[in-house]
Amino acid sequence: MRNFGFSTTKSRTIDYGDIDRRLISYILENEPTFNACLSCGSCTAICSAGNLTSFNIRKLSLQIRLGDLEKTHEEIDKCMLCGKCLLECPRGINTRNVVMLIKKGLTIFEIKDKA
Ligand code: SF4
Ligand code: SF4
Repeated sequence: MRNFGFSTTKSRTIDYGDIDRRLISYILENEPTFNACLSCGSCTAICSAGNLTSFNIRKLSLQIRLGDLEKTHEEIDKCMLCGKCLLECPRGINTRNVVMLIKKGLTIFEIKDKA
């Protein structure tokens, strides 16, 4: 890591060189609209699964961008694929397709829950 003459605590540090970008690259390749997400949270507010469980599609989106694929694997099956989120997205992102690509990508890259 580069030395800027000061340091931050480990828990507040994100080393972008270490981020696992396999899943986000796969999703963006197949659903490029996902790049336009502004993290507004509208999808999360309307989410059927989010109303019944701890599922949070906006949080998941950030986790994928940070390469936390095991956590994504733990959560993704809570999505009911109802499609309400894509009706609400101000950027017209096909979030349902994003969920399908997450599931497919996790299988392709053989990602499993943390032991
Ligand atoms: S509603 Fe669309 S733009 Fe907003 S957080 Fe969800 S996917 Fe991103
Ligand atoms: S498709 Fe999944 S993420 Fe979208 S509203 Fe339905 S349960 Fe939530």
